[in-house]
Amino acid sequence: MIATEIIKIDEKNIKNPEELKKLRKAAEIIKNGGLVVFPTETVYGLGANALDANAVKKIYEAKGRPPDNPLIVHVANIKDIYKYAEVTKTAEKIIKKFMPAPLTLVLKKKDKSLDCASPGLDTVAVRMPENNTAKKLIGLAGVPVAAPSANLSGKPSPTNAEHAIKDLNGKVDIIICGENCEIGLESTVISFNSDESVNILRSGYITREDLYTAGARIARQKNADNLEPPRSPGMKYTHYSPDAPLYVLSGDEKNIIDFIKKEIYNKNNKTGFLCFDEFLEYFEDNKNIALISIISIGPKNNLREQAKNLFDALNKFNMIGVDIIYSVEPEKTGVGEAVYNRLIKAAGGKIIKL
Ligand code: AMP
Ligand code: MG
Repeated sequence: MIATEIIKIDEKNIKNPEELKKLRKAAEIIKNGGLVVFPTETVYGLGANALDANAVKKIYEAKGRPPDNPLIVHVANIKDIYKYAEVTKTAEKIIKKFMPAPLTLVLKKKDKSLDCASPGLDTVAVRMPENNTAKKLIGLAGVPVAAPSANLSGKPSPTNAEHAIKDLNGKVDIIICGENCEIGLESTVISFNSDESVNILRSGYITREDLYTAGARIARQKNADNLEPPRSPGMKYTHYSPDAPLYVLSGDEKNIIDFIKKEIYNKNNKTGFLCFDEFLEYFEDNKNIALISIISIGPKNNLREQAKNLFDALNKFNMIGVDIIYSVEPEKTGVGEAVYNRLIKAAGGKIIKL
């Protein structure tokens, strides 16, 4: 255990001297080899100086992260992407179109300076975040910042400061508490083939349609949603799992409602039901409501809202302490691809067809 300083920051006024002072202090800690949790637009990040092998090692220890799962390096400006990585033609097009963005590019390393973020690989994953607090913090630190999500390895990602505190209080130097994350899902991760086509290694808020529209040719690949053999090391681990076993229910609305009602009548389990707004009315008069915790992640057709609320819902089920969780199945188009991907991974691939 180490003493963790928990600092509230007013993200809307980070240029105020008071707020800047807090960020300067956190930036110093990063520069000097410490660990800082900070808000980004995707999820809260656990940052350390990516040039300092000891500092990066501390990230792995704090999270309990498998040592061969490489880290994303965050930079405060586009110039730094070029400083550390070989930017191909397509990559340049994508950088110009999107960055700063919830998008990570896996590129050839220019030299060995970022070796500790992706040991044994000749590539590095880089992202320039859009969130002003994150950008300012990284800029003030003056070093590239390796930052995975600020949660214990395998657990749901933190989309607010409270989630990050629960997992990392006592394991990091500072936790900067800002606003809830606007996007709520980790960045889209892409890599580039020698023919300049693009692989989507992890789906996210920037969709395959967004990339295609920007002129990227998406390589023919199996759907990133599947639990297929890992293409990048990070894809082989269980991820995002809530404490209780999670099952995704696939089928029509009526069958799902019948299934859930039967479940709560037949068992004394405390059941969690993760659903869309449209399902809520079916449970309004339920006598056994005490046995079920229903959390909606938004309207059925609002995929961005679902993205924003998914991890918060999984974290809430952990806080409530349910025995089993059933979830409806999100649509797989657009941002829904990423929501579906996170949910299926959180469920460890357990789908019940109804
Ligand atoms: P996380 O830090 O948990 O958000 O995950 C970062 C993701 O980026 C993981 O899926 C990593 O495997 C992936 N990643 C990071 N660096 C590389 C790299 N050099 N090559 C391929 N994938 C990478
Ligand atoms: Mg993560």
